[in-house]
Amino acid sequence: MWKCRSKQKQLRLKKEAMFTCPYCEFSGKRSEVHNHLAENHGDTLGVRVDEFTKHTFYVITCPVCGASYEQVTKKARRDPSFVSEYEYEIRLVVFDLLLYHLQGEHQLGE
Ligand SMILES: [Zn+2]
Ligand SMILES: [Zn+2]
Repeated sequence: MWKCRSKQKQLRLKKEAMFTCPYCEFSGKRSEVHNHLAENHGDTLGVRVDEFTKHTFYVITCPVCGASYEQVTKKARRDPSFVSEYEYEIRLVVFDLLLYHLQGEHQLGE
């Protein structure tokens, strides 16, 4: 369920574009910064549980402009172990949203 649809085609990414972590001095290729974010900045994600559906939402807030994005994890409802088991994958998905936002709105990687 975490398959990444290949939006990259639409973004016309330069192959060796350098990205800088929005939270620290780390910089590298997109994939390196992506992994770095998931490994080091998971505490920047917010989590909320929807009252009605009991779905768990991960919330990422852009450190530049304050825009926020949510990623729902529907499986958490029936499987409490899902969130801990797949936490890293969930982080990757959510930080991917942030990276697309930073690329689109704040010229990251250009
Ligand atoms: Zn960082
Ligand atoms: Zn922003």
